[in-house]
Amino acid sequence: MFTVKIWGDRGSMPVPGGDTVLFGGNTFCLEVRCDKRLLIIDAGSGIRPLGDYLVKNELKHGPIKADIFLTHTHWDHIMGFPMFTPIYIPGTELTIHGPVSFEDEPLEKVIGTQLSYRYWPVRHDELSSSIKYKSLQETKLDLGDGITVTTKYLNHPVLCLGYRIEYHGKVLVTIYDHEPYSNVFPTDPSQPDYDPEIAKEGEETVKEENQKIIEFMTNADYCIHDSQYTAKEYVSSKKGWGHSSYEYAINAVYKARVKNVLLFHHDPARTDAELQELELFYSEKVNNKTTLHLEMAREGKLYYLEP
Ligand SMILES: [Zn+2]
Ligand SMILES: [Zn+2]
Repeated sequence: MFTVKIWGDRGSMPVPGGDTVLFGGNTFCLEVRCDKRLLIIDAGSGIRPLGDYLVKNELKHGPIKADIFLTHTHWDHIMGFPMFTPIYIPGTELTIHGPVSFEDEPLEKVIGTQLSYRYWPVRHDELSSSIKYKSLQETKLDLGDGITVTTKYLNHPVLCLGYRIEYHGKVLVTIYDHEPYSNVFPTDPSQPDYDPEIAKEGEETVKEENQKIIEFMTNADYCIHDSQYTAKEYVSSKKGWGHSSYEYAINAVYKARVKNVLLFHHDPARTDAELQELELFYSEKVNNKTTLHLEMAREGKLYYLEP
């Protein structure tokens, strides 16, 4: 069995309410199962209901053990951690993996600061569970039991990792929070600081970096890809914010021969009706020309890579 269940897919802030019932209002959390092993990607507000599920249904079979992989430490990706009930239960064993942007602040401190009296009534060193922290760079990890996790730096305002999880020959890839690389040097000859050589070098680097992302997700059975904006929104005012457009995401996964794409990191202002309309619009485009299966990620939905 190799599955991924979505517990949170919403950007920036939890947005509960009548307009987000269908696609969900919790921020990021994915539950990945490789038979008996539990991997959790991100600890946004969606990790709270996941924790409650684990305590209610699985604690009776033995202590909760999981590897948590953080894509990065932006608040919407870690804010649920203090409400993840298993951290208060003796016997729980967690290994938290994640990138570290500032060497003087280890991952434990970044996560643990949330659990200090200034922000929360329980301090990190009062937790009854056993928690190990492992900082990650670009690497390939052997998690045992036939599971490998490969990491790749993405293009985001803070150090952020994409994950490629392989198990029984099936592949799950996450590419969020990410926007395509673009040339930071002037490319317009009429600009006073235009330098043709630097402009050309910039173009080549951008091409190479974007190609590396495509290679990272090549032949994935499922790719969960950032797509916070439409191309129109992206170009008009969102460039440099660290997120992709639907158009870029779809083209990239198509080039990478991905089989299924879950469009992810929904904008907090996007309603269910709007997401449904966009899903229909992009599905029709894709269905006419390719075998790629496309859908908007839905909170609560379980996807099978292997039954
Ligand atoms: Zn972010
Ligand atoms: Zn984010």
